[in-house]
Amino acid sequence: MKDKHIPGKLNMFNTWKQSLVGQLLLRFWLCHIIFFTAIGSIQYNALQESLYRSVEQNLTSDYNSAQNSISSWLGSNNLPPGRFAELRPGNFVAIYSVDSKPKYLINSYGRENTDIPEFIKRNQDLNLEEKSLNPEPFVFGDSGEEKYMLLVEPVLSPEQLTVLGYAVFGEPLLEEELILQNNLKNYVFNALLIFLLSTLLTAYALQKPLQPLLNISSTARKIAGGRYDLRLPDQKTASEITQLREALNHMLGQMENALNTERTAKDKMARFIADASHELRTPLTSIRGFLEILQRNDSTDKELLNSAHHTMLIETERLIRLTETLLSLNSISQEEQQPTESPASSLRDVVPELFPLLTPLLGNRILLLNDRNIKGTEDLTSFVPNRIIPLKIDELKQILYNLLHNAIQYTEDKGIISLNTEEENGNFIMVITDNGKGIPAADLAHVYERFFRGDRSRSRTKGQGSGLGLAIVSELVKIRGGEIEAESILGKGTSFRITFPIA
Ligand code: ADP
Repeated sequence: MKDKHIPGKLNMFNTWKQSLVGQLLLRFWLCHIIFFTAIGSIQYNALQESLYRSVEQNLTSDYNSAQNSISSWLGSNNLPPGRFAELRPGNFVAIYSVDSKPKYLINSYGRENTDIPEFIKRNQDLNLEEKSLNPEPFVFGDSGEEKYMLLVEPVLSPEQLTVLGYAVFGEPLLEEELILQNNLKNYVFNALLIFLLSTLLTAYALQKPLQPLLNISSTARKIAGGRYDLRLPDQKTASEITQLREALNHMLGQMENALNTERTAKDKMARFIADASHELRTPLTSIRGFLEILQRNDSTDKELLNSAHHTMLIETERLIRLTETLLSLNSISQEEQQPTESPASSLRDVVPELFPLLTPLLGNRILLLNDRNIKGTEDLTSFVPNRIIPLKIDELKQILYNLLHNAIQYTEDKGIISLNTEEENGNFIMVITDNGKGIPAADLAHVYERFFRGDRSRSRTKGQGSGLGLAIVSELVKIRGGEIEAESILGKGTSFRITFPIA
């Protein structure tokens, strides 16, 4: 049973350890441990130093008050007393001969003989001669009851001429060690208490600044669930979290825009498919209608047969034109995604082929090329400049055909249609003008939309005009970096102006 619980607890700890609160608290603990250890050892050393300094002073004062008596005992070979009142209670002095042999051991009052340590009696490791040359108190022994502060002094004859022996003054450090240990225990206890309290306090205090992060993740979850309009709430919080929130909100804005663009593109595509199907259906329905009539009626009725064939032919041609136009639109979209590198053409490449296609449609209308009537002219290339335009030859031909064809189509007999070129501010400009029926102001903004037809009923009945001509023109101009503008006055005429920057 127990084994089952341990991994669960371990998991919980790991999760907590990886949380922001966990990470912050672990670092906080680490800082506290370093901080408390440093403070503790500084405090311990300072206290030890001050305690030892007072022991050193005791030993020096013992020496000062006992040195004369010691030198007289050694000089006269009189036996010294077992206890000596000049020594501070608890202290002792061991007297050695000049050849470092222990001679006498004198206790202070208030100290038992048994307390005198073994090493004093055995004279081990003391190195008396060397220590007496530079008498400084030092700590001897490692811990507890075996730890002493000692001072080795030479014993001089009363005339100060000869060394009679050595005196080792000693004070046990038992009391000081006890004070130090108690102090350390108190310190550790207090540090742990402070550590615990500050952990609780910090964990509580961290909750508030971290709350916005929790809010961010709950809002982010809602956004991921489809609420793309939601934004992370503006709360008073730490500057890093504010920056994160602003960056996320900015990203969400961009994402929503991208989604909207995609949605609009999808809607546009759906509308296009619906319109295209509708356009394709109309001639097909018409063909089916005639086929049914033919099936029902006597197939020897020549007039009916002719009329049916004629209409079906027109509708079939319209279907072919429409599918070709749709294919052109498709290739423009492909071109938009993977544009051809630097396409180039000039009016001289297209004019000789294009104008012979248009002249049969002119009737009594006049077609001007750079203000000159093209009628009966063989070499049209001299009418136009050789300026390079960033379009493929077929594209340029299609643009001009669509615009000029429209101009002819929407202009009464005897109208004037013109194609003029000019250069202005580093741009090459082609202007197609007619003096036809014009486009109503309300329609002008829509003429480039796919399947837009100004006068639907008229176009339909005439069986021509799918409403895709200007859409193709505008899309081609735009993907090649040009611009197109239209101006029109109802009843007076229309002019399309195409601008390309000169490379
Ligand atoms: P359509 O195949 O119907 O000509 P377009 O895309 O070429 O389709 O043109 C869209 C509409 O813009 C036309 O139906 C027509 O109403 C209007 N239009 C285009 N060019 C002219 C023009 N030169 N004069 C008058 N109206 C025009």
